Amino acid sequence: MAIDDHVDFNGFMEGVKRRNPYQPEYVQAVQEVAEDIFDFIADKEAYHEQQILRRIAEPDRVVSFRVCWEDDNGCIRVQRGWRVQNNNAIGPYKGGIRFHPSVNESVLKFLAFEQTFKNALTGLPMGGGKGGSNFNPKGKSEREIMRFCQSFMTELYRHIGADVDVPAGDIGVGGREIGFMFGQYKRITGHFTGVLTGKGLEYGGSLIRPEATGYGAVYFMTNMLAVRGQNLEGKVAVISGSGNVATHAAEKVVQLGGKPVTLSDSGGFIHDPDGLTLEKIHWVKNHKTHRRGRISEYVDAFPGATFHEGQTPWNVPCDVALPCATQNELLGEDAKALVANGCIAVSEGANMPSNLDAVHVFKAAKMMFAPGKAANAGGVAVSGLEMSQNSARRSWTEEELQQMLKDIMAGIHERCLTHGERGGGYVDYVKGANIAGFKKVADAMLAFGV
Ligand code: GLU
Repeated sequence: MAIDDHVDFNGFMEGVKRRNPYQPEYVQAVQEVAEDIFDFIADKEAYHEQQILRRIAEPDRVVSFRVCWEDDNGCIRVQRGWRVQNNNAIGPYKGGIRFHPSVNESVLKFLAFEQTFKNALTGLPMGGGKGGSNFNPKGKSEREIMRFCQSFMTELYRHIGADVDVPAGDIGVGGREIGFMFGQYKRITGHFTGVLTGKGLEYGGSLIRPEATGYGAVYFMTNMLAVRGQNLEGKVAVISGSGNVATHAAEKVVQLGGKPVTLSDSGGFIHDPDGLTLEKIHWVKNHKTHRRGRISEYVDAFPGATFHEGQTPWNVPCDVALPCATQNELLGEDAKALVANGCIAVSEGANMPSNLDAVHVFKAAKMMFAPGKAANAGGVAVSGLEMSQNSARRSWTEEELQQMLKDIMAGIHERCLTHGERGGGYVDYVKGANIAGFKKVADAMLAFGV
């Protein structure tokens, strides 16, 4: 039977756009995958008959709820919360919770869709999901954050479970917020289970979870460089962001002999031509996470650096780049600047930081370019290891976990090579990641029937 959506790429994308009006981020994420998948599935009869791509590009469930909380002035505030459960073909839904004013259904659908492929790439049994709220944690007191997290979980708890859906942190949600949410889940249900990851070490968390996303993105970079007989020694790295992912990426770059020269936040970026040292990175972690300060204040502490208000760091000459801030932070022009300035490799610590134009520029330039779904999978991978430790009621040592993280990142790199090798030394990591992730989920879906 002919299936219109699968006749051609344009027909498929028209359908996606029609069914998801006003959801540009979601359409963008589906398009990026569909561009790569179409050739691969062209002659796979079963995928067509079972409408696999169409089904993966339609979340299983989008749960939307109201979150009411009381601020410190006694005013009642109302926010929207969501949990998008995209696909659980290979394991329970798994993915972070984001608190940021930019959060809406489109953003969470794109993140849950990406998460499905990312989680499949790790080799661990995890489906894809994502949640969050348009709540803005900036400037809120500790007690306001606590009340919001408790109200959020009062709605969310009925939709999650250790074998159903296991949320974690993301932008605006760190260890403190996970603690408040886990406490509320336990209070409501009376169950102490591994229902969230990114927990504190005292109550079932895993060592190296905070470091895992940033470290993993750098390990992926080293795997790509190794294919060309290179390493990070002496390489100048441009990094965006200054949160958990960016600071740990910078730390790992330094440990491996590289020189990170930038960090950023929504106000602009700092350029430190002498390079960030472990001491300077420690200062940033403390300043941003504990004091909730701005990156602009870095130049007061380290006068050799300059602050560039309202700008992104992509015009700074570098050997390698790690976008670790947020989606669509690196545009086509930025990608051209990176290529022109001699950057040889990009590893995405954030989710979809490069827009479609930028991805096309990188592909045309045959850049070593690792998409977030491959490069930043270290975070969710260690979350998967946290789930294993919780089920087994035991904990692994730091050395064991460091080795597992390295092995998982190397495994993802291998899976990308399997489907992304294009000859002449060029590897299309975007295509490799998309096909490898898709194939695993699709084959599980085929096994289940409709
Ligand atoms: N938020 C992270 C991500 O984008 C981690 C998710 C998790 O640990 O479940 O992959």
